[in-house]
Amino acid sequence: MNVEISIDREKCMGSGNCVYWAPQVFDLDDAGMAIVVGDPLDDDERVHLAVRNCPTEAITVPTR
Ligand code: SF4
Repeated sequence: MNVEISIDREKCMGSGNCVYWAPQVFDLDDAGMAIVVGDPLDDDERVHLAVRNCPTEAITVPTR
């Protein structure tokens, strides 16, 4: 099962916090916006750290 993470590109300010906390799951694209590059299930705990540490609350992970 794939967990859908959504990143609100209107809110994302490209701080890179999510990449810091979960580098296997997040990266910044050429525009400096966060994108999902990995399977969030591989690193569930770090994904939640990334969500909590996003300064603009741009990352949404559906509750399970
Ligand atoms: S932590 Fe939030 S604001 Fe920063 S790059 Fe990631 S999604 Fe964007």
